Amino acid sequence: MVHPRHATRLICSLTARNIEGMRAQLATAVDAGADAVELRVDFLSDEPADEQLAGLIAESPVDVLVTYRPMRQGGRYDGNESQRVAVLTRALAMGARWIDVELDTPAELQPGGETILSHHDFDGCPGDLDAIAATLDASPAEINKVAFAAAGPEDGLRALDLVRSCHKPTIALAMNEAGLLSRILGKKFGAFGTFAALSTETVAAPGQPTIDQLKNLYRWDTLTEATACYGVIGCPVGHSMSPAIHNAAFAAADLDAVYVPLLIQPGRENFNRFMDAVLARPWLDWRGLSVTIPHKENALAYVGADHCDELAVQIGAINTITIEADGTLRGDNTDYAAATSALCGAMGIGRTELAGRSVAVLGAGGAARAIVAALAHDGADLTIYNRTLSRAEALAADFGGVARPLEAAASLEAEIVINCTPIGMHPNCDATPLPTIPKSATVVFDTIYNPFETTLLAEAKRAGCHLVSGLEMFVNQAVAQFERWTGQAAPQNVMRRTVLSQLGVGPMPGQA
Ligand code: NAP
Repeated sequence: MVHPRHATRLICSLTARNIEGMRAQLATAVDAGADAVELRVDFLSDEPADEQLAGLIAESPVDVLVTYRPMRQGGRYDGNESQRVAVLTRALAMGARWIDVELDTPAELQPGGETILSHHDFDGCPGDLDAIAATLDASPAEINKVAFAAAGPEDGLRALDLVRSCHKPTIALAMNEAGLLSRILGKKFGAFGTFAALSTETVAAPGQPTIDQLKNLYRWDTLTEATACYGVIGCPVGHSMSPAIHNAAFAAADLDAVYVPLLIQPGRENFNRFMDAVLARPWLDWRGLSVTIPHKENALAYVGADHCDELAVQIGAINTITIEADGTLRGDNTDYAAATSALCGAMGIGRTELAGRSVAVLGAGGAARAIVAALAHDGADLTIYNRTLSRAEALAADFGGVARPLEAAASLEAEIVINCTPIGMHPNCDATPLPTIPKSATVVFDTIYNPFETTLLAEAKRAGCHLVSGLEMFVNQAVAQFERWTGQAAPQNVMRRTVLSQLGVGPMPGQA
């Protein structure tokens, strides 16, 4: 059930230590586009005088929620209970639009009026979540609020269940990074509000996004009941540029869609739990998922080889799941085609022209496996160099080619050199996997995309080689995902520009 009475409010938590700081935060929050502010009185170092509190409430051009959270509910107040409730009651009389009163506040102290009745659990999703929600729903309070620590993003879906099932306007939030989706997608289901911080330094609860992230990364202002959902599964996932690139692409293509990070701890059971939870809720309009380390193999196992492309099955990993309209799943690996098209694009050749070319691949991990599979498929003559020789040997046995220890790369002879190790990646930007660029090399491809120009690529440039950056591969795999999910041509220039700006690099010469 979507509550039709209002649009979901973006409520900015104000967490300064004194009234002047609160006043400054209020002004910044209003400028940033907050619909309402939450005055966290428990963050103040001293309880405010009535005239200070009244002045602040009166000055606010947006609705004010006053919260005075006790320590037992995750706040900072550890004083007398009736004194705490008295401040809240007076705040209502001063013109606060709502006050937040915790469910465990003694009943005789609970004020009536415009109350948000709340329950917080910082240990995890309460076993009796539905009973808590029913208690809140049956109370005289105007609004329900439940917040609990998420173990995985499926707990964020539990929060959305409550937003949909409660009879009163409800705020239901799964805290921590894993629960982020509940803070964003609540708007799709008519949640009463969501909380956002002014900056990462002023968050009032674990996992709270900033207003800037909600508005400019997660497309807050455009979210509707019909918004289609996408996301990236990984661990870690906070550093991923996929939300930025895909949300920018959806915006450029004017699609009603949003893409969120989904932190899932390693382990097939954790991956499966989330996927089962998504598929059990067709009302989510979940259409697609990117998958990154450490879940690419789990994704293939979940989707099933019969529903994945043939080379992905040989590689043993997928990075893309599509949920078709009838709920069936399809798995793809867009990494390998992304790599070969980046390579062929830089060389100005078609894939068939890779046949017979000598290629040295440094590394034998996941990225190397996808690239070796694709190049072997196209008939390239491969030598795989790796620190752990047995892994190179296993890769060569699976797809063809010769295995050598990484030290032997110092004297390699190949036309194309591809680095699939993290050597040279941020923050170790001075490192390079090759002491010198081999004389035989005409093309050097570094799969690393941060930094944009690695030491290896800088040296290859000096040696006059064609260069292929990991950024092209990264953009290409995202382009292929977008096109697989939407059936439309991807706004490639927007996607490339987004990644460049995330890396702090301006557009390359000749790029729009
Ligand atoms: P992975 O599965 O962990 O494999 C890492 C590989 O690098 C292994 O072969 C490992 O050798 C080797 N290696 C790691 N540290 C090393 C060191 N200090 N010295 C020598 N060799 C070392 O990782 P992956 O997923 O394949 O990723 C590898 C690189 O590819 C990353 O740098 C990433 O930036 C890049 N990548 C780029 C894209 C893109 O879209 N552009 C996509 C995926 C990955 P051992 O076998 O001996 O451990």
